[in-house]
Amino acid sequence: MLLQNREYDFVIAGGGLQAGLLALAIHNHQTDARVLIVEENDRLFGNHTWSFHGSDVPESVTWLKAVSYQHWPAYKVKFPSYEKRINLGYCSFSSAQLNAAVEAVALQGNLDIQTGDSVEAISADSLQTASGATFTGKVIVDCRGARRDHSSIRCGFQKFHGFEVELEQQEWPDRLPILMDATVDQQDGFRFLYVLPLTSRRVLIEDTYFSETPTLDRQNSLSEVKNYLAERSIENWTLVREENGCLPMPFNSSMKPNATAPIRGGFRGGWFHAATGYSLPLAVRFAETIATSSPKKIDQQISLLATQNRFQATFSRFLNRLLFQLVSPRKRFEIFRRFYRALPDTTIERFYAHEFTKLDAARILIGAPPRGLTPVRFLNSFRVQPCPVLQS
Ligand SMILES: Cc1cc2nc3c(=O)[nH]c(=O)nc-3n(C[C@H](O)[C@H](O)[C@H](O)COP(=O)(O)OP(=O)(O)OC[C@H]3O[C@@H](n4cnc5c(N)ncnc54)[C@H](O)[C@@H]3O)c2cc1C
Repeated sequence: MLLQNREYDFVIAGGGLQAGLLALAIHNHQTDARVLIVEENDRLFGNHTWSFHGSDVPESVTWLKAVSYQHWPAYKVKFPSYEKRINLGYCSFSSAQLNAAVEAVALQGNLDIQTGDSVEAISADSLQTASGATFTGKVIVDCRGARRDHSSIRCGFQKFHGFEVELEQQEWPDRLPILMDATVDQQDGFRFLYVLPLTSRRVLIEDTYFSETPTLDRQNSLSEVKNYLAERSIENWTLVREENGCLPMPFNSSMKPNATAPIRGGFRGGWFHAATGYSLPLAVRFAETIATSSPKKIDQQISLLATQNRFQATFSRFLNRLLFQLVSPRKRFEIFRRFYRALPDTTIERFYAHEFTKLDAARILIGAPPRGLTPVRFLNSFRVQPCPVLQS
C-alpha cells in the first residue's frame, strides 16, 4: 500500500546508488532521523554492479561495511603488447547487496520506502508524487539520476552490456578482476572487456565502450563474450544475469551543486567521477556530508565539498574532451595503455578516488600528444556548450 502525506527529517527522490548510500549514512549518524525514499520503479537500486577502489572510501566511513561487498587485493589491465597487475584493493557490490543493507535499516523502523510512485514535483521542503501524495521534509535531496534526454549534452558515453555466467565444469582461471582487457577488437571507440570473478565458477563479463553514441548491440556483445569464453576453453556455461548501462561523460561544466534547497545528489548533482564513470567515491562523500551536517548548514557544507573537488571535476571533464574530441576512436586504447604504463599505482589510486593533485594531473597529461592533435583542433575543443545534465 502506498504511503500518503507524511513528514520526515529527510526525503530522498529516486532510489538508486546515491539514495542507498545516503540512507545508510543517515542511519549511522542520526539513528532517530526519519527518512523516506521515493522510487518510481517497483524496486530500489535497479540491476547494477558497482565497483570501487578500497581507498576511494575514507577510513572514517564505516557505514559502508553494512553492504557485504566483495574485495580483491589487486587487479589487472591488459592491452595489446602490455599487461600489468595493479596492487590496489578493488571492491564490488550488486544492487541486491545494497538492497539487503538498506532493507535491514528499514526493518528497524525509521526508514520508509515508497516504490512504484514517481516524483512529479519537488521543492525546498516537500515533494509530490504521481499517486497524489505530498511528503514534507526538513531536508529534501533530489537523487533522480541522469536526465534521460542526451540529445543536447556535449559528451561521450561509457556504455556496456554485461553477462554474468556460471561455469559448469571448470573454474575461472584467474582470481583477480581485469578492469580493462583491451586486447579485443577496437570497435565503436575504445572497447574493452571488464571481467569480475565473483566466485571460482561465476564471472561477470561486461563488453564496455567509450563511444560517441549511446546505443548498444546486445548480440554483438554476447558474441564477444562467447568468443572470450571459448578462447579459454570454457564450453559449458549458463547465462544467469544480464545488465547494461550508459553513462554520459561530459566535456564541460564543473560540478555545480545548487547552493539552495532542494539539494541535488548523485549523478544529477554532478557527484560522480566524469572521467572514470565511477560514482561511488563522490557519492560516499556527499552522503557523509549530508548525514553529519545540521540541516541549516547542509548547503554550506555541500558547497564546501564541491569547492574541494572543483579542480578534479574540471580536469576530468577536460580529459573527456581530449579523449572524445581529439583522439581518433581506434587510437583511444593507446591513451589508457599509456595511463597504466606510465603512472605509479599511487597516482592511479588518487585518480580513481577523485583526489589527484595538480602534479598528478601534469603526469597524466605529459607524454606524446595524441596523433592528429593540432593547436587549432585543441583550441576548437573548448567551443562546447555546458552540459545541461549538470546545470538545469
Ligand atoms: C557503464 C557504467 C558502468 C558503471 N560502473 C560503475 C562502477 O563500477 N562504480 C560506480 O561507482 N559507478 C559506476 N557507474 C555509475 C553509476 O552507476 C551511476 O553514476 C550511479 O548509479 C548514479 O547514482 P544515482 O543515485 O545518482 O542515480 P541512479 O543510480 O541512476 O538512480 C536514480 C534513481 O532515480 C529513479 N528515478 C528517476 N526519476 C524518478 C522520478 N521522477 N521519481 C522517482 N524515482 C525516479 C530511477 O529509477 C533510479 O532508480 C557506472 C555507470 C555505467 C553506465
